[in-house]
Amino acid sequence: MNPQCEVLVVGGGPGGSSCAGRLAQAGVDVLVIDRKTFPRDKICAGWVTPQVFEVLGLDPDEYGRDHVCQPITGFRTGLIGRDEIGTDYGRVVSYGIRRCEFDHFLLQRAGVPCILGEAVHDLRRDGSGWIVNDRIRASAIVGAGGHFCPVARGLGGREGDQIVTVAAQEIEFPLRPEDEPNVRLRGEIPELYFCQDLAGYGWCFRKGNYLNIGLGRLNSPGVAAHVQSFCRFLSERGKVCCELPDRFHGHAYRIYERIAPKLVDDGVLFIGDAAGLAYPQSGEGIRPAVESGLMAADVLAAASGDYRRQNLEPYAQRIVERFGMPRSGAISDRLPAAFLQFAAARLLLSRWFTRHVVLDRWFLHAETPALAAPPAPAPCGVT
Ligand SMILES: Cc1cc2nc3c(=O)[nH]c(=O)nc-3n(C[C@H](O)[C@H](O)[C@H](O)COP(=O)(O)OP(=O)(O)OC[C@H]3O[C@@H](n4cnc5c(N)ncnc54)[C@H](O)[C@@H]3O)c2cc1C
Repeated sequence: MNPQCEVLVVGGGPGGSSCAGRLAQAGVDVLVIDRKTFPRDKICAGWVTPQVFEVLGLDPDEYGRDHVCQPITGFRTGLIGRDEIGTDYGRVVSYGIRRCEFDHFLLQRAGVPCILGEAVHDLRRDGSGWIVNDRIRASAIVGAGGHFCPVARGLGGREGDQIVTVAAQEIEFPLRPEDEPNVRLRGEIPELYFCQDLAGYGWCFRKGNYLNIGLGRLNSPGVAAHVQSFCRFLSERGKVCCELPDRFHGHAYRIYERIAPKLVDDGVLFIGDAAGLAYPQSGEGIRPAVESGLMAADVLAAASGDYRRQNLEPYAQRIVERFGMPRSGAISDRLPAAFLQFAAARLLLSRWFTRHVVLDRWFLHAETPALAAPPAPAPCGVT
């Protein structure tokens, strides 16, 4: 029998599962489809801010009983190849998770029916609804398929020549007992080092018994060479001197900066990486994916089955209220590169700047509380 649902969520990552779970709670008939079977891995450092746990109503201690959930209490930071400094918060300010565990847990917790191991390859409108892969009928679709979301690609959610993309490479592996003497890193103190041209940063992050190393750069080809020089730096500093058991894996994604992403159309919304919502300074994308998923679900539920564009527009408004208007050009774009590098080398050695600007503002979003509970559903004012 061909599946049929009210809302089809394409992608079961943190955005898709959060959206689907909230829709199910609101009594909406929802189905998730993902091209992968779960548990599946996702290229990611796996750093999650506490606001993510809070908005999901998830207790990190409870989650950590059966999964890797590394508390983070400070950071070491600097420019690659230069001096570094430590910032100690003396309390837990973030967590390190493994995406293969976290995403699987969230999808199971959503408790919704799923079609796993089937990619969406065909999507067409059918009256006011959709037919997907020639067999699945849905009244509305949520594009939650990440950077390569087939819904966003098919419906023009990825247009624009000013799109800013992060190209990144990462490796995550369990440490063997013989590696221990060759790895000088503390789990609660991840290390972040910016590229000297400030176009990106590398991280080195121990989560329980797992080590995650990676580097991401904005709009930059040749990321592999930067990864190699980062690894040399880590080895020269005596931080990671063990042999890496595998090659680095690459992935790309957009950040929310230069252009207003397409967020809604008739019968469709885009969330998370499919909408390019990752934070521009840190590249953190799990929180925007979860928050946008929840906001999308609330708007869909309030549309009461009439998914015309005008009923879905409140989602686009909420995204702008939450994440701000995309910037048309950063101030840093207008300053000479040599000046920026000179200033950055000094600022990154300032304890005040590192703590209050780099970490609190750019990486922890300490000033932005977890997403509040949804407003009471407004009557659907369709004319
Ligand atoms: C190297 C790297 C490091 C990162 N580190 C961090 C970090 O530490 N913290 C952080 O917050 N963010 C980090 N990010 C960003 C973060 O991984 C993403 O922003 C986040 O995963 C977005 O969630 P999502 O649910 O939108 O998409 P995803 O997590 O990408 O999920 C999309 C899902 O859609 C499925 N899918 C794709 N195509 C199809 C199809 N055709 N049919 C059906 N299903 C499909 C995929 O299988 C996948 O399960 C990092 C990214 C990279 C590349």
